[in-house]
Amino acid sequence: MLNAYNSKTDIIFIFLSDQEIVYDYKDIRAQRQIIQDQFKDTGWRSTELLEKVAKSDSFYFDKFSQIKMPAWSKGRVALIGDAAYCPSPASGQGGSLAMQGAATLADALLLCDGDFKLAFEAYERG
Ligand SMILES: Cc1cc2nc3c(=O)[nH]c(=O)nc-3n(C[C@H](O)[C@H](O)[C@H](O)COP(=O)(O)OP(=O)(O)OC[C@H]3O[C@@H](n4cnc5c(N)ncnc54)[C@H](O)[C@@H]3O)c2cc1C
Repeated sequence: MLNAYNSKTDIIFIFLSDQEIVYDYKDIRAQRQIIQDQFKDTGWRSTELLEKVAKSDSFYFDKFSQIKMPAWSKGRVALIGDAAYCPSPASGQGGSLAMQGAATLADALLLCDGDFKLAFEAYERG
């Protein structure tokens, strides 16, 4: 994916792997190599783009993952936004979801007259 804005272009390589890829999150060189290996000889502009990735000083590598928690609240603490329900970068809209979640929690606290236990239950029901 090429994402252009403000006279810059982000180069994004995404791939699906059947196996968990074990890597050292501090070893940027090895992470760059994973991308090179995955996309070598894949045609289109991949060679040119891989050269840019090899030289980039803002290289970033991570896996898409999702943690499903049994609840978004515990005691007096409730999570909203990315901390509770961060959507995949593939779908986006995390900012919208965070604001909707904050409004739902605020409404629940108002409706339950500050009884946070009831409000958190109502919030989690949506
Ligand atoms: C590249 C990119 C593009 C995106 N584009 C879109 C888009 O187009 N539309 C959309 O809706 N969403 C988009 N999102 C997603 C959106 O940015 C997030 O879902 C949203 O910012 C989540 O809001 P949040 O308040 O939950 O978390 P954050 O915005 O991450 O806020 C959490 C805050 O807590 C602070 N913090 C962390 N730890 C501590 C601590 N211990 N003490 C005090 N403060 C702390 C952090 O510094 C941060 O300011 C994008 C995200 C990325 C990365």
